[in-house]
Amino acid sequence: MNDLSPASARFAIADSDLLVGGIPLGRLAERVGSTPFFAYDRQLLTERIRWLRQCLPEGVALSYAVKANPMPAVVQHLATLVDGFDVASAREMQIALDTPVTPAHVSFAGPGKTDAELRQAIAAGIIIHVESEGELTRLDGLARRSGHRPEVALRVNPDFDLKASGMRMGGGAQQFGIDAERVPEVLGRMHGLDVDFVGFHIYAGSQNLNADSLMEVQEKTLELAVRLSCHAPSPVRHLNIGGGFGIPYFPKDHPLDVALVGGRLGALMPELQRTLPEARVVVELGRYIVGECGIYVSRIVDRKVSRGQVFLITDGGLNHHLAASGNFGQVIRRNYPVAIGNRMAAPAEETASVVGCLCTPLDLLADKVRLPRAEVGDLVVIFQSGAYGPTASPTRFLGHPPPMEILV
Ligand SMILES: *Cc1c(COP(=O)(O)O)cnc(C)c1O
Repeated sequence: MNDLSPASARFAIADSDLLVGGIPLGRLAERVGSTPFFAYDRQLLTERIRWLRQCLPEGVALSYAVKANPMPAVVQHLATLVDGFDVASAREMQIALDTPVTPAHVSFAGPGKTDAELRQAIAAGIIIHVESEGELTRLDGLARRSGHRPEVALRVNPDFDLKASGMRMGGGAQQFGIDAERVPEVLGRMHGLDVDFVGFHIYAGSQNLNADSLMEVQEKTLELAVRLSCHAPSPVRHLNIGGGFGIPYFPKDHPLDVALVGGRLGALMPELQRTLPEARVVVELGRYIVGECGIYVSRIVDRKVSRGQVFLITDGGLNHHLAASGNFGQVIRRNYPVAIGNRMAAPAEETASVVGCLCTPLDLLADKVRLPRAEVGDLVVIFQSGAYGPTASPTRFLGHPPPMEILV
């Protein structure tokens, strides 16, 4: 058997080939014409959203954080399934606006928005999540000159932390959001500005697999929003409560119990609807939606044994998939689930390391994993690769071509 986590079992197998969108991997590679490539499975994306809808309370809007995977075809497909998009740059905004999703359901967060980006966002009529008092002042000036009043939500840096989160993005000192204790004063200033206050964005962090901690965050987030709403110049109509739902990457990771998290949110909703009756509550998710629906495929170019250790050397590498190499924020390098995609039925019979073709020891895609005996020409598959792939990788490193991406 290949060295698989249960998550990779989402992809079916026929004979010895992994199937992506029903197509055997070898044939898909021929269709693509070259390796390496990322392949995303349309049906798995659809099923993922269906599952989320089942878990989240009715009336809670589901927004896709485009930065997790901004491939236009993926975003177009998701446009038919989600309620809105969160973008973090002008380029992502353009991709979102190319879809049928209404601009009123697109929001733009992120520190350091330039004047040019803010002007584009004002013209587009999307919701702008303001990250600082300085940004609010700049936005007001730009709005005045443009003659359009943008809808603005204040991103709040909460006065609590997201425990057990892979990446903390709220609490303490942050470049994200306005410190919660400053928000009442900022809200007091908003009457006089050329912007329409619509609500709050409270995002505590990312890649959390712990349902208890996520439920605690949801509760504190709603509590904070209600507390701050007393100072608001108008009713809260938009309340983005973040997300942070993680996916299991490594053998010891347990999948998040989303049904539990959604159930708890459902229990909190009636009270919230009484207090903030006009609020459209939004959950924003990136990797949870796309991460498990994508694979990275590279071809073995060389097989060598060095002092007893087997190396499978592929035409891929960290230039396409930095996260799988462990260099995208991991403290301790661990292996993503990996398989030989054209030998799925073969038993694991050797320990091998999969490396890329870059001249750095950091270019390690899988360290000493149990795999079937693989040969030159075989296809190495890295699962859990649908989020933070090519666009979160140094694709120009060593000057190799960027990877292809396909939605199947
Ligand atoms: C990155 C980001 C997300 C998406 O995070 P995931 O871990 O991919 O779900 C959502 N909201 C904001 C504000 C972000 O910065």
